[in-house]
Amino acid sequence: MRFVARQPREGINVSETHPLAEAGVLIVGLTAIFVGIALVLIFLVEVSLYFVSAEKEAAIFASWMPEDLITVSTEDERLEATQALVNRLVVHWLDTPYNFRVVIEDSELANAMALPGGLIVVTQGLLDQVESENELAFVLGHELGHFRNRDQLRALGRVVALSLFFTAVMGSDVAGIGIKAADLTLRGFSRKQESKADAFGLAIVNAEYGHVSEAWRLFERWGIRDDSMSGFIAYFSTHPDTGDRIWKLQVLAETNAWRLDGVSTPLRW
Ligand SMILES: [Zn+2]
Repeated sequence: MRFVARQPREGINVSETHPLAEAGVLIVGLTAIFVGIALVLIFLVEVSLYFVSAEKEAAIFASWMPEDLITVSTEDERLEATQALVNRLVVHWLDTPYNFRVVIEDSELANAMALPGGLIVVTQGLLDQVESENELAFVLGHELGHFRNRDQLRALGRVVALSLFFTAVMGSDVAGIGIKAADLTLRGFSRKQESKADAFGLAIVNAEYGHVSEAWRLFERWGIRDDSMSGFIAYFSTHPDTGDRIWKLQVLAETNAWRLDGVSTPLRW
């Protein structure tokens, strides 16, 4: 019998699946792999926190500042007053391993943040908005709560781990990883982290003043803000929105039987 070579059928090298569907599978698959690796990195950061004590962190970052931070003059009277207030509040956190340093960022955007090593950043925009010491004390107490729960180091660990990962994937230079305040804060914290920081902050305010009156009045004013104000409030990009938060703070005060009436303390500038 003679063998007759047959022509291969048309389109033998072309998959029967639609190319868009194949591309979809590829994208979804790759995304799943990337997300998986990111989750593993986040988990490793959590584990490594057990090996880096708060004391060690405080020592390593004792004089550290993010490279993109523009601060106001150290002569600024509001800087001195805010640092003094932090020093008073921190008395209520026995055995804190941190030596807290306050800096004022030269920015009109109202915001506050906790950075590794006990660095507390408040913006000029925020200080322009507070109307009593009690309001400022709660904002600062909340940031102290992040240190208490070590959220700031968790954020740093994630930024470093993820940048190393992307640097490896993209093949760029590792030296390019500069730690910026923007990277550390824009990711924000989870609702649970924020609630815990609020609870710690309010307890500190109560310990300092003997009441929690006016502690969240700043957020009440911001809650009725109009759109013209939203431009200079960056606080809500890194912290919970007002409504839910105020309600939770009220419940917290009631549960702990903290006084809601009390004389507010004027700002010292
Ligand atoms: Zn927060």
